[in-house]
Amino acid sequence: MTGSKSKSYSTPHRQSQGGKDFRNQVKRNHQQPDTPIQHSAPRIGDASAQPSLILKAGREKSLHRRHPWIFSGAVEKIDGTPASGDTVSVHDADSNFLAWVAYNSESQITARVWSWDEKEIINADFFRKQIANALSMRAAILPPISEGEGWGKGKLDNGIRLIHAESDGIPGLIVDQYGKVLVMQLGSAGPEHWRDTLADILQELCAPVCIYERSDSDGRKLEGLPTRSGVLRGALPAQVEVTEHGLRFAVDVTVGQKTGFYLDQRDNRALTGTLALEKDVLNCFCYTGGFSLYALRGGAKSVLSIDSSQEALQLAQRNVQLNGLDSARAEWQCADVFEALRKLRDQNRKFDLIVLDPPKFAPTAAFAEKAARAYKDINLLGFKLLRPGGLLFTYSCSGGISDELFQKIVAGAALDAGIDAQIVKKLNAAPDHPVLLSFPEGAYLKGLLLRVSEI
Ligand code: SAH
Repeated sequence: MTGSKSKSYSTPHRQSQGGKDFRNQVKRNHQQPDTPIQHSAPRIGDASAQPSLILKAGREKSLHRRHPWIFSGAVEKIDGTPASGDTVSVHDADSNFLAWVAYNSESQITARVWSWDEKEIINADFFRKQIANALSMRAAILPPISEGEGWGKGKLDNGIRLIHAESDGIPGLIVDQYGKVLVMQLGSAGPEHWRDTLADILQELCAPVCIYERSDSDGRKLEGLPTRSGVLRGALPAQVEVTEHGLRFAVDVTVGQKTGFYLDQRDNRALTGTLALEKDVLNCFCYTGGFSLYALRGGAKSVLSIDSSQEALQLAQRNVQLNGLDSARAEWQCADVFEALRKLRDQNRKFDLIVLDPPKFAPTAAFAEKAARAYKDINLLGFKLLRPGGLLFTYSCSGGISDELFQKIVAGAALDAGIDAQIVKKLNAAPDHPVLLSFPEGAYLKGLLLRVSEI
């Protein structure tokens, strides 16, 4: 899944500048005649063919709303003996066709929808169409920065989420672009089955120097899939780097968290940078320095960055050097944020701008209560460390915590801290992480920019 912030990390590679912008290439390729790549016998769009899933009466409703998941409890009967990853048809209790899905016998989510169209054939052409659509969406919503404009000075951002799983019509598939390198993460049995086909299509449409597989997310265990990572196509350059709003970040795609970098926070980081001038900034859960670098470039007086990963902090400091930023204004602490915030409170340290971007405390709603306590704890401490009029950027990337619940938790924290605060802006993931209207679960990242009262 999309919002995972795991703790694994290790020594990074050094950088190479990925120059190619796949977004421009896509339009061209999209118009080329389709040359099918077929690795696996295609389904012939015949929904009466075996195997198929038959749902319990009434359980077709979510499919009528085009929600792409079918839970095991909704299935009345399985006709035939499909293997995990196979394409099967789904029918309601009256035998009406509902969808073509990827089946998974191992998961609570028994099936994820490929297509609602009975005539659709789930094969390489289908995936090429879906991928080309995702790429042209990025081309449309992430236009190149024009010459001389903004921080980019004519350079394109080249760290982009190209495919955002369910929200791009390919459940379970994440593809991130870091310059000339693509990182592919397969999160469920469907894309696992079509792995080679997907890699071939990405190679054909994007022509990267490398496709690196990072199928090692925690979610794979729930899908009954083993972890796997390594080069899938091409060769991995010794150094991988992205440019984001004109800032350079070295990315370790082999063992960095998620696929190597948190692309979802791109625009929120930029906003932080614009508000950092002359401020004492505290960046909690800083990873490879994202928010810290923007704050330094934005003219912050000081930036204290905290993370529990020594390797991430090392890369963060390298990123400061890579951009020629003033490291004298930056302080780095390898610590547990929960403890570090208490120490800062006891030392009576104060800040003008605080960022709280913790890992996923609640992967599902079942963890919500425990997660709520953790969010409240850090937010309460954050409020106490702010000077009057200070700004708090606070985030949750937990799928199990809704926007409303998150706001309630933060409101509770402000109340307990004895502080009045205003919501200045509601924040979410960058636009290359779209949310399908029929799949609200896709909106995992939520954030608030708050200003605490001066009086
Ligand atoms: N803001 C970052 C992404 C944060 S990811 C960016 O813009 O790139 C979450 C980070 O929290 C990871 O780097 C992880 O190492 C760190 N982390 C997880 N638990 C922690 C803890 N208890 N204390 C400090 N850091 C922690």
